[in-house]
Amino acid sequence: IEFIQALKIPGTKADEAKEEVSEYQQKRMTIEETKKSLPVFPFRESLLEAIAAHQVLIIEGETGSGKTTQIPQYLYEAGFTKEGQKIGCTQPRRVAAMSVSARVAEEMGVKLGNEVGYSIRFEDCTSERTILKYMTDGMLLREFLSEPDLGSYSVMIIDEAHERTLHTDILFGLIKDIARFRSDLKLLISSATLDAEKFSEFFDDAPIFRIPGRRFPVDIYYTKAPEADYIDACVVTVLQIHVTQPLGDVLVFLTGQEEIETCQELLTERTRKLGTKIKELLIVPIYANLPSDMQSKVFEKTPPGARKVVLATNIAETSLTIDNIIYVIDPGFNKQNSYNARTGMESLIVVPVSKASANQRAGRAGRVAAGKCFRLYTAWAYQHELEENSVPEIQRVNLGNVVILLKSLGINDLIHFDFLDPPPHETLVLALEQLYALGALNHMGELTKLGRRMAEFPVDPMMSKMILASEKYKCSNEILTIAAMLSNNSSIFYRPKDKIIHADTARKNFFVPGGDHLTLMNIYKQWADTDFSSQWCYENYIQYRSMKRARDIRDQLEGLLEKVEIEVVSNPGDTENIRKTVTAGYFYHTARLSKGGNYKTVKHNQTVMIHPNSSMFEDLPRWVIYFELVFTTKEFMRNVIEIKNDWLLEVAPHYYKSKELEDSTNKKMPKGKGKALTELVRS
Ligand code: ADP
Ligand code: MG
Repeated sequence: IEFIQALKIPGTKADEAKEEVSEYQQKRMTIEETKKSLPVFPFRESLLEAIAAHQVLIIEGETGSGKTTQIPQYLYEAGFTKEGQKIGCTQPRRVAAMSVSARVAEEMGVKLGNEVGYSIRFEDCTSERTILKYMTDGMLLREFLSEPDLGSYSVMIIDEAHERTLHTDILFGLIKDIARFRSDLKLLISSATLDAEKFSEFFDDAPIFRIPGRRFPVDIYYTKAPEADYIDACVVTVLQIHVTQPLGDVLVFLTGQEEIETCQELLTERTRKLGTKIKELLIVPIYANLPSDMQSKVFEKTPPGARKVVLATNIAETSLTIDNIIYVIDPGFNKQNSYNARTGMESLIVVPVSKASANQRAGRAGRVAAGKCFRLYTAWAYQHELEENSVPEIQRVNLGNVVILLKSLGINDLIHFDFLDPPPHETLVLALEQLYALGALNHMGELTKLGRRMAEFPVDPMMSKMILASEKYKCSNEILTIAAMLSNNSSIFYRPKDKIIHADTARKNFFVPGGDHLTLMNIYKQWADTDFSSQWCYENYIQYRSMKRARDIRDQLEGLLEKVEIEVVSNPGDTENIRKTVTAGYFYHTARLSKGGNYKTVKHNQTVMIHPNSSMFEDLPRWVIYFELVFTTKEFMRNVIEIKNDWLLEVAPHYYKSKELEDSTNKKMPKGKGKALTELVRS
């Protein structure tokens, strides 16, 4: 039947209401239709049969087949929640947990947080009614602390298993053990590609259920010569596609929020210059710290005649499927945690992706039609410079967090823990040593009372130690603020390109002596004094959303502090106590001023520098403690606080010897001189 649109008569209220209903029904239809169109749908029955027949099942299916959104619904429909138990589904990424649960709630016609919910660190969007629970793998790990047999779940889905995050890898070992004594628990391991055999072997030869993918051909293009500036190359490629290629959305893979924002600004600027000469180009970002109402924008349908460009981190590689992507632009990089087990130095660096990743990315272009993937590197580089597969996270990160968690679950022998791939021996040993130095373990490697309290906090051991040390130094109120501001890993400062000078002046106005931690505290305090005003944030180039999140985190940490029976007390005048408390947690991260404005880490003599955004950048104190390292052109310390070397002996006597901390002078460099030196070094 063909329909032709009739002339539209401006409606009455009643008419409009009717239209809303029909639109609603249409949307319902589309959801039903979409569900039926997914590759997993024809396998619904056989999948449920396989799940009924086996306790553990490995499910392999290409990204976008409907594994994450559909399978939990099938299980619900099949009655797996009848006895009052839940279905859990883990995700390696926060954004995925949030966005997928939102989608499933919509498909089921319920409010997010009721029957369908999600749980991520510092944010629990579930309720008594929740039966489908999406959560980060890290949150499920923490649930083991309160419910070691996961008794409230009838099914647990370890999703995106191929991502091989540290937490997922640990979950494998724990959950395999639980499945042995809880024969009623169904366990599904779901993965996008390849590794199914390996998972099957690990889970005592569990059967593999394969969902055949549908995929259209994707043409791969490489650049002729290496690109010096891949952000710029992305922008140019997007515009080339937009001008020369048929309609269809574009997906660009970048490494993080900053790159995405830069790319977005450049694209906006250049399309504005082109004006009406080109078709409409919608630019939508997606990354972990993007506010959730903006995350859903990537899923909105592109209006007819327009083109959408999605600027994404590798969240879009397998965790999220965005429909209608025809073109993929892949610069070939990814941001990764890297860890040096010898020096204990951890840092965030941009690294080339693996071939497996590059092929996943390309695959995103072929879901709805034949697509094209533009790789911003040469074919030679692909062949010779990319590794076959990414190294699992467990083999390249600090294990302190996980060790303390496993210890509090009563798993003492970590060397013989059932790892899918074991971590390097020296990493494990270093984690044990660090926890010992922090006082979390005794010399037998057992959890101490302090360690037990530390495990209550969903933060790194150094941070939980800092929080607990605030009891002794009587400044828990201030430390809570500092911890919350540091844990909120999205940027506090708003720095629009056209107002950089104003923004930087505003930022500098918050600087207080002693270091960035105190500056962060100052910002929070001023904001709290305005009764958490958004206007105040706006006027001071502070990101209101980040502050609100810091406030949420702070509230939660405060609750945990009560749980471990530490009073919230304030000692605002005394920054020495505050800085000592920071030192008590972060004493590994100590660096000493060396020649030419450089710093050297105390234990391993590695060269590091103060980040240019730090309030200490021009101060160059003799001794500093940093919160984290980021590697760009050099190893930069981000969030730095000034300390005195003798504090280290006070807070970590079993770690530092006074000989290591000898210093002819405790004085700072004269102001100004330090700056000249740094510039000399950096130019
Ligand atoms: P898989 O887990 O196998 O990769 P998913 O279940 O995530 O597949 O995706 C199935 C479908 O659901 C895809 O077409 C995807 O675009 C759609 N989808 C997922 N999340 C959302 C969302 N938040 N909004 C709209 N559509 C979504
Ligand atoms: Mg999925």
